[in-house]
Amino acid sequence: MGKFNLTQKIDRRTFSRQVGKGIGAAAIMSSLPFACSSAAIAQKEKLGIALVGLGYYGSILAESLQKTKICELKGLVTGTPSKAKLWGSKYNIPEKNIYNYQNFDDIADNPDIDIVYVVLPNSMHKEFSIKAAKAGKHVICEKPMALNVKECEEIIAACNEAKVELGMGYRMHSEPYTQEVKRFAKENVFGKPHLVTSGSGYIMRGNPNQWRLKKDLAGGGALMNMGVYSIQCAIYATGEQPIAVSAQEFKTMPDYFKEVDETITIQLEFPSGCIANLHTSHNANINDLYITYENGWCRLEPAHSYGPIQGETSKGVMDFPVVNQQAEQMDDFAKHILQDAPNLCPGEMGLRDMQIVEAIYKSIDAGGKRIALDLIEF
Ligand code: NAD
Repeated sequence: MGKFNLTQKIDRRTFSRQVGKGIGAAAIMSSLPFACSSAAIAQKEKLGIALVGLGYYGSILAESLQKTKICELKGLVTGTPSKAKLWGSKYNIPEKNIYNYQNFDDIADNPDIDIVYVVLPNSMHKEFSIKAAKAGKHVICEKPMALNVKECEEIIAACNEAKVELGMGYRMHSEPYTQEVKRFAKENVFGKPHLVTSGSGYIMRGNPNQWRLKKDLAGGGALMNMGVYSIQCAIYATGEQPIAVSAQEFKTMPDYFKEVDETITIQLEFPSGCIANLHTSHNANINDLYITYENGWCRLEPAHSYGPIQGETSKGVMDFPVVNQQAEQMDDFAKHILQDAPNLCPGEMGLRDMQIVEAIYKSIDAGGKRIALDLIEF
């Protein structure tokens, strides 16, 4: 677990189990210094989620929260009063559960809210994830987790300190085709993977002042926004953590992508000898994953859009139900809290990916030099 201590989280889960078994909540509460809402949460059938940031992705999450089974949209946090009114009436959210960025800390006193989902520009993930943890709320943080490794570590430390759970908004882990690719690696279905290729990107246009083009708000460009999908693909396709990376950067529109990266190619080396050749771009529509194993192959295309995902292996066409990835992801996190299910995408996963992202930028700055990776284990 590297330098992060999971003891507090395990204690909290033990607590939930004990409450679930009918052991007196008040007695346990008085003996353990848990976040104030733990006893109440353990009694709930559905957890209340507050969305922080009502932009493009916030609206997708709000719609998905109409389809979740064990969590529901209960709160909104926005800096725009007109959105507060519109969303409040659309989703039947009472005024007492609507906050702005200034009074956000008051959410600590609101028992309707169990989870805060941070869906803001990347530069604001750290501030609001930490504020949410300090308010005693469990946290889901969108990808990329923050601007850099140090910020990711600070978020994890704050959640540990506050004894709340932290999950990443990595929706693919709750998607059946992706879960099948993970199983191929885990159960050695086609033997060892030898080569992984994956691309993730889209053609970004529009307002040249949008936050995704600003280094201080986004942290980086295509790599931070889309490249994380291909990095994730390579890791779950191999079931291994990479040991080294080399990368190269290219720009076809340097005037538009002035501050951040447009197109990056990446080679990740794995302990087994497998190599992943990845590419990400904000000026190319790419969305695929191809794995060649000792005894077969698997291709997903599209591989990381909202769905339907499509796939084929050397054994035939893959056929899984189309799911609402975001609804499944939020229910999976709620299951972790309510039913002690595994946290599919803990904060440490976001930190690990940021360690890789930083190494990629380091390699590019060093003219494509091979950078050895020393990643957090979890
Ligand atoms: P967006 O620009 O559509 O929305 C951002 C929201 O933040 C808006 O409501 C805006 O009003 C608010 N905001 C507050 N301060 C701001 C500031 N200084 N500048 C700009 N906006 C500010 O962005 P989005 O597409 O919703 O992305 C939000 C987060 O969600 C990002 O971290 C992004 O990477 C992530 N995201 C994840 C997925 C996914 O599939 N998991 C998809 C899209 C976006």
